Amino acid sequence: MAKKTIVILGGGVGGLVAVNELNKYLGGKTNLIVIDKSSRHIFAPSLLWLMLDLRKPEGICKELGLLESKGIRVINADINRIDLEKKIVNTSKEDVGYDYLVISLGAELNPDAIPGFKESAYNLYTLEGAAKLRDALKGFSGGKVAILISSMPYKCPAAPYESALLIDYYLRKRNLRNVSDIQIYTSEPLPMPTAGSAIGNAIKDILASRGIGFNPNTKAISINKEQIIFEGGKIHGFDLLIGIPAHKAPQVVKDAGLVGESGWIPVDKGTLKTRYENVYAIGDVTGIKLANGKMLPNAGVFAHYQAEVVAKNITSEITGNKPEAIFNGKGYCFLELGYGKSGFASGHFYAEPDPVVNMKKPGFFWHLGKIAFEKYWLWKWF
Ligand SMILES: Cc1cc2nc3c(=O)[nH]c(=O)nc-3n(C[C@H](O)[C@H](O)[C@H](O)COP(=O)(O)OP(=O)(O)OC[C@H]3O[C@@H](n4cnc5c(N)ncnc54)[C@H](O)[C@@H]3O)c2cc1C
Repeated sequence: MAKKTIVILGGGVGGLVAVNELNKYLGGKTNLIVIDKSSRHIFAPSLLWLMLDLRKPEGICKELGLLESKGIRVINADINRIDLEKKIVNTSKEDVGYDYLVISLGAELNPDAIPGFKESAYNLYTLEGAAKLRDALKGFSGGKVAILISSMPYKCPAAPYESALLIDYYLRKRNLRNVSDIQIYTSEPLPMPTAGSAIGNAIKDILASRGIGFNPNTKAISINKEQIIFEGGKIHGFDLLIGIPAHKAPQVVKDAGLVGESGWIPVDKGTLKTRYENVYAIGDVTGIKLANGKMLPNAGVFAHYQAEVVAKNITSEITGNKPEAIFNGKGYCFLELGYGKSGFASGHFYAEPDPVVNMKKPGFFWHLGKIAFEKYWLWKWF
């Protein structure tokens, strides 16, 4: 019997785990192909440490080509078109046919959504942006720091808050905090609102204890040199602007007709199946509605667990067994606070009527846990 071909779109968190897990179960028995326009995998949580010059870019990236030594084919190319009828993915290098398709293309950053963003904001969500921010922070001698969350949804709901706390820590260390102001602007009513009001209020309290301003329900409409202009006419000045750009589904999945009402790919919340046979979608590119009507947050931890489920179920199908793995909506995240401390929140997001999320007392232990996780991640999957 001819070997089946499983194509994984994206070598980010979901794609990397999916292809490794499939290789563990089916290596040698199937053709495994991963396609990404980037030649390297970036461990995004460490962008926050890069921002403070605690990491070098090469320390938080791995070449996807390393997967070839495991027998996985890596195609470094732009994915231009997904033909779901013919089961072919068109890339800038070649056309690739598939029997099973796993889409893990993440969220596309859209800095153009707010005029002036590209010119004025340091984009923390890219390697290049975080490195430029690091250099700007080194040269910063105090003033108004603004952290702007352009819109919802955005990946890692904790990251902007962690960046505020880490910058506060950094400025204190350099004796610049007394001549600096830090403000967060977001259209959210509370930090990490999907995690519930107890977690949101706990983070608000931590921000307040560090003198960081939290400005909820604010929507920026444009940025003009050193001012953010908000809906309703309010204006806030800044000397250093850290921006979380708007997110949208990658054009290629929109063109393929995969995107639903939410603007993301609708999937079965347990199996991650799309409405197309043998086509799965995982991670940030999906839109999964929770029992309370909110969407499952975009986080690597979910992309990771979803990838494990999909790999198990594709394996079962190919080996003639019943696919039984189910993604249960559980996840966790660290919250970096500076001073070598982290918080740790874990939750069950499929709980009804609302997600149940608990936060452990912040401490050194969780910070060490985050460091260990970074090392583990870059070792485990390559
Ligand atoms: C600063 C920061 C901190 C974070 N911290 C955490 C954290 O502590 N915990 C956590 O759980 N999550 C965290 N996240 C979020 C996490 O990184 C994402 O949720 C996760 O990467 C999503 O995985 P994914 O596979 O869906 O997409 P991604 O990891 O974004 O991968 C998508 C891949 O698809 C490729 N791609 C897209 N379009 C195309 C195309 N047309 N052609 C070819 N290739 C394409 C991209 O190059 C990319 O490699 C953080 C994110 C950031 C930015």
